[in-house]
Amino acid sequence: MNYSIAIDGPAGAGKSTIAKLIAKKMDCIYVDTGAMYRAMAVYFLRQGFDASWEDKITAACEDINVEIQYVDGEQQVILNGENITGMLRTEEVGKMASASSVYPAVRLKLVELQRKLAKENRVVMDGRDIGTYVLPDAEVKIYLTASVDERANRRYKELKEKGQAVPDYETIKKDIAERDYRDMNRDFAPLKQADDAVLIDCSDMSIEEVVDTISAIATARDKDV
Ligand code: C5P
Repeated sequence: MNYSIAIDGPAGAGKSTIAKLIAKKMDCIYVDTGAMYRAMAVYFLRQGFDASWEDKITAACEDINVEIQYVDGEQQVILNGENITGMLRTEEVGKMASASSVYPAVRLKLVELQRKLAKENRVVMDGRDIGTYVLPDAEVKIYLTASVDERANRRYKELKEKGQAVPDYETIKKDIAERDYRDMNRDFAPLKQADDAVLIDCSDMSIEEVVDTISAIATARDKDV
């Protein structure tokens, strides 16, 4: 039987950093589902679509094929045969991913791929709807969150360290609050804590503390499997 760790939570809570470390510790592959939504967003941007064009976006889903590969343990996202991993982490792509992921056609396109990966591998999968919708039977479910202020702070520092053009703090905070609203209020598979998920508010926790907390839960459940 396979073993899945689902980590959900709002933008900027540190899910990917934590999920990567947990994957190493627990001998799992790390599946970044946000990257899949970003790949779809790259396609829509290339078509010149506006995020409000639901009909065009829905129809375009037919023409999109997203695949995942691993190179030296790093997830690569292949969009219609092209490795676009390096293009995913821009603000423009993030905005389009956030806005287009509310559409059911976009979500349904990816859920099958996500479930297949979990069926065939031991996974740590992070996203917004993994514990509630994609893998409702995951052995471990974590809802990782932090205050909006703390998440905006972390995002601000991260952008500065990358040497990217940094919007002011209030703009970043507003953007995070808008993403939270969209993720939590869409009709189809919204972001919410699963009933059986463990809530971790990491506003005042170090990365090591979060990893240790999740590893302890994951190790205990791994023995039960
Ligand atoms: O996590 P990341 O910022 O890379 O995700 C990009 C966007 O994709 C998010 O803003 C979110 O709206 C969406 N997403 C989602 N469901 C997931 C993962 C990401 O709706 N499982």
